Amino acid sequence: MDFQLTEAQKMLKQNIGEVAEKEFKPKVDEWEISGKFPSEEVMKRLAELGFLGIPLPVEYGGQGRSNLDCILAVEEFARVSLLATWPVFEAGVGPIKAIEHFGTEEQKRKYLTAASRGEMEIAIGVTEPESGSAATDMTTQAILDGDRYVVNGVKHFIITGGKAGAYVVWLRFGEEKGARGIGGLIVDSGSPGLSFGKQERLMGLNGVDMHDLIFNNCQVPRENLLVEQGGFGKLMSALDLQRCGNAAVSLGIAQAALDEAMKYSQQRKQFGKDICEFQAIQFLLADMLMNLEAARLLVYRAVANGGEGFPSRLEASMAKCFANDMVVEVAGAAFKVHGAYGYSKDYPVERLLRDSWAWGVAAGTTQMQRVTIASVMLRRRFDQSR
Ligand SMILES: Cc1cc2nc3c(=O)[nH]c(=O)nc-3n(C[C@H](O)[C@H](O)[C@H](O)COP(=O)(O)OP(=O)(O)OC[C@H]3O[C@@H](n4cnc5c(N)ncnc54)[C@H](O)[C@@H]3O)c2cc1C
Repeated sequence: MDFQLTEAQKMLKQNIGEVAEKEFKPKVDEWEISGKFPSEEVMKRLAELGFLGIPLPVEYGGQGRSNLDCILAVEEFARVSLLATWPVFEAGVGPIKAIEHFGTEEQKRKYLTAASRGEMEIAIGVTEPESGSAATDMTTQAILDGDRYVVNGVKHFIITGGKAGAYVVWLRFGEEKGARGIGGLIVDSGSPGLSFGKQERLMGLNGVDMHDLIFNNCQVPRENLLVEQGGFGKLMSALDLQRCGNAAVSLGIAQAALDEAMKYSQQRKQFGKDICEFQAIQFLLADMLMNLEAARLLVYRAVANGGEGFPSRLEASMAKCFANDMVVEVAGAAFKVHGAYGYSKDYPVERLLRDSWAWGVAAGTTQMQRVTIASVMLRRRFDQSR
């Protein structure tokens, strides 16, 4: 058992940290305050720098590196700029992985290549207004009609909705209820009958696009079938890797919060001393580091054990759940270390605290991860509908 990153991985992390600090850190406040993120420009730059398609095959324009390398990149970008992280995540361990593993040759050539070049974002559409945690209750339906599918329904809370070039959409094919009726299509953004809802007003993630996908007799070519009806398990296995990407974002935000707290605690003086001289502050900092390191081990283990495939459901759920809870705690502790300055928008912890809450809901709540963990532990299936 080896708990060290390889020299190449350490260099990758360091290199990304330096690039992110130089290229994107100076823009963080501007993007945060204006809520405007020039995603096309940033994607182009990330592609030039070789940070898109990190774990995708070289023959489709990817970097041919490991999933773990991509997770390290996501973590390091998230430490500096959440917005610049998004394309790295999407074109690395996001829905693109479902296309890499389950797509046809034509699909891989089209979507993996475009994603690696920074020409197209690929988002995921699962959640619906009436089915969030209960994903198997989804009602958005695809009916085969000759050489195309006709799709009707709404997908809710879709990150990069309206901006992405294509969506991996989980759908109900036909009338069969539950998981057995579900499969996946790739829906191009220009598909006739696809429109987008209003921009969601969020607590954090300023600059992130989030819109509904509205399918009104939307026409999708038959060759865009990604996973046939009955392939819910396949879609879920790709989501398990995406969940580790979500957990890596949590690691990056937590590291940023810890860095800010360490810095501030050695600058701020009260009672004539740096506040890090007080045991109450030391204990906050010590707990932050312990929790962050424990989460890191769970995330890296889940991804490393999955190799070039997908992580196990148990390891991915534990990693996501722990990292999502951890980032809220760590950002909260950083906020406490800052006193009133933590409540001020002039200090980064205010943003980090708001952004920390997103991850324990996105891609499945921490409560639902706990249900999964208990189910695997006890080798029982807990049907939530009965
Ligand atoms: C920042 C962000 C980004 C997102 N991005 C996307 C995206 O790109 N694509 C996409 O498809 N979706 C996306 N989502 C949606 C996300 O996946 C859902 O919000 C999530 O699955 C929870 O669904 P819900 O919000 O409807 O909550 P609900 O399912 O209504 O849950 C409400 C509460 O009840 C609890 N609960 C529900 N059922 C159970 C149960 N059986 N046992 C215990 N507790 C339960 C939940 O844990 C939660 O606390 C995003 C959400 C956020 C916040």
